[in-house]
Amino acid sequence: MTTRLDGNVLAGALAHLFVPDATDLRARCTNCGRVAPIAEAVVYADAPGLVARCRSCDHVLAAIVDAGDKVYLSLSGLSAIALPK
Ligand SMILES: [Zn+2]
Repeated sequence: MTTRLDGNVLAGALAHLFVPDATDLRARCTNCGRVAPIAEAVVYADAPGLVARCRSCDHVLAAIVDAGDKVYLSLSGLSAIALPK
């Protein structure tokens, strides 16, 4: 039987992601599989927001867009992020 919960159960795990400096976290590119600290990404700041691309294959890893009253974060190019325990 599958246990279904609402998104509140993610609070503890997500708190690890939003540490003061998340650039030390190691993440995996969905396109080429490279695993590296987020700090090693190539970031373009002249896009609408910040766009982080994989240093190996140039795939978009993440985007951060400041829309005024909200900040949008996409991590769609990352298949996994390693969190310290
Ligand atoms: Zn890649």
